[in-house]
Amino acid sequence: MILHEHLNVNEQGHLTIGGVDTVELAREFGTPAYILDETVIRKNCRTYRDAARRYFGEDALPLYASKALCFTEIYRLAAEEGMGIDCVSGGELYTAKKAGFPAERIYFHGNNKTDRDIADAMDMGVGTFVVDNREELAALSAEAVRRNVTQRILLRITPGIDPHTHRAVVTGNVDSKFGNAIVTGQAMAIVKEALAAPGIHLAGLHCHIGSQIFDIEPFADAADIMIRFIAAIKAECGYEIGELNLGGGLGVRYLDTDPAMDYADAIRQIASVVTGFCQANGIAMPRVILEPGRSLVAAAGITLYTVGSVKEIPNFRNYVSVDGGMPDNPRYALYQSRYTALIANRADAPKNYRATIAGRCCESGDLLGENMELQIPKRGDILAVLVTGAYNYSMASNYNRIPRPPVLLVKDGIARVAVRRETYEDLTARDIF
Ligand SMILES: *Cc1c(COP(=O)(O)O)cnc(C)c1O
Repeated sequence: MILHEHLNVNEQGHLTIGGVDTVELAREFGTPAYILDETVIRKNCRTYRDAARRYFGEDALPLYASKALCFTEIYRLAAEEGMGIDCVSGGELYTAKKAGFPAERIYFHGNNKTDRDIADAMDMGVGTFVVDNREELAALSAEAVRRNVTQRILLRITPGIDPHTHRAVVTGNVDSKFGNAIVTGQAMAIVKEALAAPGIHLAGLHCHIGSQIFDIEPFADAADIMIRFIAAIKAECGYEIGELNLGGGLGVRYLDTDPAMDYADAIRQIASVVTGFCQANGIAMPRVILEPGRSLVAAAGITLYTVGSVKEIPNFRNYVSVDGGMPDNPRYALYQSRYTALIANRADAPKNYRATIAGRCCESGDLLGENMELQIPKRGDILAVLVTGAYNYSMASNYNRIPRPPVLLVKDGIARVAVRRETYEDLTARDIF
């Protein structure tokens, strides 16, 4: 096992994913390629769904935050696994619609929905809008009145939690483009506006405190603040908030120094504090919504590349260049996110080589990682970067006119193409000449 249960090494010394030989996948489908173990995604969905129901009650619903990895088939998987989804753009909504995802289980996010987004989402019958701001509330209310319908909404609230200092820091997340802060009074103001707005049904509140969080404490702090706010709304407006969306953000193991999180146990712990806070504040337990993205899909995925040059600069460092890079995985360039990599065709050899893995763009910052431990690499080797299922394909670009890799789903020893590789034709298909 390498980092996660579905990643192993076979008798030929090749890395396998879900029992499938990655070197054979590279031969058959070419590189770079994203490979996802469908079984892992389904299992993670079930873990969330079962734990949410068991600990929060039968009406609890986990949503797949689909910005983490978006293509038609993944919405079909999410629907089959009984998930809701969170979409953040017209493009995600359109993809979900193409997949036949039930519209009433869609939550529509975003801090700047356009009039067209609002109209398209209402045409689709999107169940719930997560309203970010007053302008959106007014636009949505006007559109609902025009259509003579009532739109169900949650309001996005900023609890003021910095998940990485483990404390409620009232000034921390208040400075955000998202949502309405409780401490400034803006959250209560927008609640009152929503309650008064025609065509709007205020079903509940939403908060999302961040991502890649391994501790329960910041979630407990956020829940505490949100439940006290629900009690304040009850006292001030005589209105009981029925639904609380606690967002996503549970952490994923990228390196062997990262902990392996037990998501069911995390949900159990969060549910236990939420129940306590509700009792302490004299409010009924709301329906709870969870919104995981990364923790459903990240570990399921790997990216396969072919090694090109191996450049050793004396007294400096070793550069291993691969046939992908920041266009298929911009996360190191954007956030210095760290990954585990290995030579897939010699996965059983010791990792006694240290390298910077570079892409092939005309950009010095086009790196997949620095100081990475590898087996001794040579041209033609298959390099695997692990745990790339989240925020890789969904963030991919065509920088340097590089076509996006395909997305392959592996299940029961068989690989199928979920998104085909882009062609040069695709790249020029929208150019007018
Ligand atoms: C990104 C995001 C999520 C998912 O976060 P993960 O860290 O991927 O679990 C959930 N809710 C909202 C509003 C988000 O923006």
